Amino acid sequence: MSVPAIREVRRLFPRAHITLLIRPWVRDVYSAAEFIDELLIYEKDGRHDGIAGRHRLVLTLRSKGFDLAILLQNAFDAAALAWWARIPFRVGYRRDARGFLLTHPVTIDPEVKRVHQAYYYLGILSGMQWIGAHLWTDPDYRLRADLAVHHSDRAKARALLAEHGIEEDEPLIGLNAGASYGGAKRWLPDRFAQVAEHLARSCRARVLLVGSKMEEPIARAVAARIAAPCLNLAGQTTLGLLMGLLKECSLLITNDSGPMHLAAALDVPQVAVFGSTSEIATGPLSAVAEVVKNPVECSPCFLRECPIDLRCMTGVSVAQVIEAAERALARGRRRPETHRGRNRND
Ligand code: SF4
Repeated sequence: MSVPAIREVRRLFPRAHITLLIRPWVRDVYSAAEFIDELLIYEKDGRHDGIAGRHRLVLTLRSKGFDLAILLQNAFDAAALAWWARIPFRVGYRRDARGFLLTHPVTIDPEVKRVHQAYYYLGILSGMQWIGAHLWTDPDYRLRADLAVHHSDRAKARALLAEHGIEEDEPLIGLNAGASYGGAKRWLPDRFAQVAEHLARSCRARVLLVGSKMEEPIARAVAARIAAPCLNLAGQTTLGLLMGLLKECSLLITNDSGPMHLAAALDVPQVAVFGSTSEIATGPLSAVAEVVKNPVECSPCFLRECPIDLRCMTGVSVAQVIEAAERALARGRRRPETHRGRNRND
């Protein structure tokens, strides 16, 4: 959700050399991002652990001669590193008792809580008056969260699908039935399976299950309920390979999760089922996404596990998701570059 803000930094400073300091596991997300110049990896639990490790990182940062640090991260640690690295201008939210380390501390605009979380990150730039303070009221402003897949991940994904007998011109339906946040974000496995079964028949599609290592049991439970042939790769992909596989999908059916945001960033049509969370705050930033939810009084509760009967999820029917899937697929078809089978040369 910070991608629109980083893209905005590029727009504001078109000739700047932009470096992202990131944790190792998000490296793949940015490996093909044309709007940044360099990635620096912060191995907080490895090479950069402890005072000696931080000092090593600070020496690297100093050697780069940065003019400005924009802190998208709210931790004290981020501000301390920028200060210690002697970066002359340090901009970020005044949080975590770190205001004194920033040259330009930004106060959070309370309005930002009413809009998509992507505006929270953009709020740092608007706090500096680099962009309009109330960007979210501008009907012409479009949040740009789009990302590209590294060509090697794309090639690996295609090779893996081919290895499993999935042809390039076959529609591919992705299912992401997990959500690491907790059970309150998960639609029911048997309903995922019923939707997949229907789409596999009606679109002659192949089914692909994705998810993290922790979500393997959920993916297995879904796969066990699908009679059509399906490929379960949950727990077996790097983030880069997951991006490559998502890009190959004609459609993703998903819970509110990381893969949902990745599919949105990759312009892959999707249906996102929302329950305990709010699509206004964290919905997919995509023109080819459909959100389905059951508008119960207690939602959004933002709880990890439901204390009552999960009515926000049990009230979402298979038919609703199938209808939304058909709408998303139709939108995807109107944008041929996003549709599997027609995007092989990009
Ligand atoms: S309390 Fe309501 S919104 Fe929260 S998980 Fe339970 S049913 Fe869903």
